[in-house]
Amino acid sequence: MPFFGAHLSTVGGVQNAALSAGELGFSTVQLFTKNNNQWKGKPLTDEQIQQFQRFVQKGKLKFPTAHDSYLINLGSPVEQNRQRSIEAFIDEIHRADQLGLSYLVMHPGAHMDAGESQGLKQIVASFDQILQECGAFQVKILLETSAGQGTSLGYRFEHLAAILAGVKHPEKFGVCVDTCHIFAAGYDISSPEGYHKTFEEFDRLVGLDRICLFHINDSKKPLGSRVDRHEHLGEGTIGKQGFQLLLRDSRFSNLPMILETPKTNSEGKPMDPVNHARMKRWLKG
Ligand SMILES: [Zn+2]
Ligand SMILES: [Zn+2]
Repeated sequence: MPFFGAHLSTVGGVQNAALSAGELGFSTVQLFTKNNNQWKGKPLTDEQIQQFQRFVQKGKLKFPTAHDSYLINLGSPVEQNRQRSIEAFIDEIHRADQLGLSYLVMHPGAHMDAGESQGLKQIVASFDQILQECGAFQVKILLETSAGQGTSLGYRFEHLAAILAGVKHPEKFGVCVDTCHIFAAGYDISSPEGYHKTFEEFDRLVGLDRICLFHINDSKKPLGSRVDRHEHLGEGTIGKQGFQLLLRDSRFSNLPMILETPKTNSEGKPMDPVNHARMKRWLKG
């Protein structure tokens, strides 16, 4: 059975994401280890770290995961911004290791009109610099598939393959597949034919064994729109059938699947429990 979880709030401290995950009955969790719209975060305190790890144990949470800051762009053609991103990403790695996290999910980057191949080259160079400057670390870096909004890279499986083939230490990397993003990018996982074709293609280009985690989100926008808007499971353009295919796919049955769907519906009702219940139900029938 997959490990179900959600991206949860760290208001009041990182430990609160792990606490909430346990309270919601999840078996995994994703969090920002610092404010995702700021370059620098306060260092984590020993007390926060200990409390976080206690809640992870108490909730029996597996594969706790960080998501990197939205400001980081390892593909930036502006050298100053790229160096700032490298520095911030090294800090993300250190924070993830302090908390004992399994994975650090990251957006590969945007080429900002420098062109896709140039952007991919910059990302590879940035990772090589990061691994050289960072020292030894445990957390695995997961390249997230993107929707292809603006000039963001990672919306084609070929992009992920190019990064993994380019970096000096590919063993430090895995992939996070976001269902909303790949669908918006044009991979039709809503039907059995499309679903199987998509993962065949992924396997051929990247390798299914690279997938460490899923972001399980429905999409508000149509197939191939390249617009990233998450919807509650079964209420968007992917629909129930696509998620049933994924949830019952034995190749992915031991992986974390993390919700990044809106926290409430239009009436203000908390929706993580509703989406969680759907995952558990659709897994069975
Ligand atoms: Zn995602
Ligand atoms: Zn998204």
